[in-house]
Amino acid sequence: MSAMKLAIMGAAGRMGQELIRTVQASNGTAVVAGAIERAGSNALGKDAGELAGIGTIGVMVTDDPLDIVAKVDGILDFTIPAVSVEVAGLAANARIVHVIGTTGCTPENDAAIKAAARHATIIKAGNMSLGVNLLVALTRKVAAALDEDFDIEVLEMHHKHKVDAPSGTALMLGEAAAEGRGVSLTETSVRSRDGHTGARKRGDIGFATLRGGNVVGEHSVIFAADGERIVLTHLATDRGIFARGAVKAALWGRGKGPGLFTMADVLGI
Ligand code: NAD
Repeated sequence: MSAMKLAIMGAAGRMGQELIRTVQASNGTAVVAGAIERAGSNALGKDAGELAGIGTIGVMVTDDPLDIVAKVDGILDFTIPAVSVEVAGLAANARIVHVIGTTGCTPENDAAIKAAARHATIIKAGNMSLGVNLLVALTRKVAAALDEDFDIEVLEMHHKHKVDAPSGTALMLGEAAAEGRGVSLTETSVRSRDGHTGARKRGDIGFATLRGGNVVGEHSVIFAADGERIVLTHLATDRGIFARGAVKAALWGRGKGPGLFTMADVLGI
């Protein structure tokens, strides 16, 4: 099969640059065929390969997604929710694959993306790494095996530039814990604590957020009971794990037909 032509949304971003390097290193299974940045970005007009530090690849960064979408088989999109919603609409019109790594989507954003998935093949995950998706599956299993004598807390740390909290991954883990326990996360989650909060309520699923330095992403799910504690942890030390997952998702989605999928579908876990 010919190389899958992929466009990179947010090409100058931390993940955008990683995606350019990963696609170009995919041994011909995929190729960067478009690179898009926001209007006003100083990356516009630059070669995407130069931007990512791998030398010229002959693809110039543009701010016009319309033109690009018509020419590619898929889009890798790690940007901001408003952009991902817009791109999902474009992907639906063009009937192509849209891999969404963007986090911080509101329920309204998610509804719009779901609607677009009637025509586009959308794979959306708050975390594209194999390790984290395994951690999600383990969390669901452990939560199902334990009762509410075990208090569940999700702890995460990311670099100082991250704009949303808790992280998309922390929310995925909280959702998995709630599913395993057979409860609704909306009804049990405690997203922050400050001041005189009173004692912890039995059955709550708590979140704690740390920010600092250049931490790529660290997550722990803690099951704490009287006298013992189970801690499941994933440490990401290289953004390449997310980019490799995104490329894998795009290749998996090729020829699949429309629908909204997750990394668990891609990885078969
Ligand atoms: P970043 O700020 O470095 O990059 C985002 C890029 O999007 C920027 O370059 C910005 O200019 C660009 N952008 C904004 N508006 C645009 C528009 N209209 N058109 C084109 N480009 C536009 O952020 P980042 O660290 O790369 O993270 C991006 C997103 O990916 C965040 O939501 C983050 O949480 C998420 N993320 C997800 C995973 C995962 O595995 N799912 C992993 C890492 C990061």
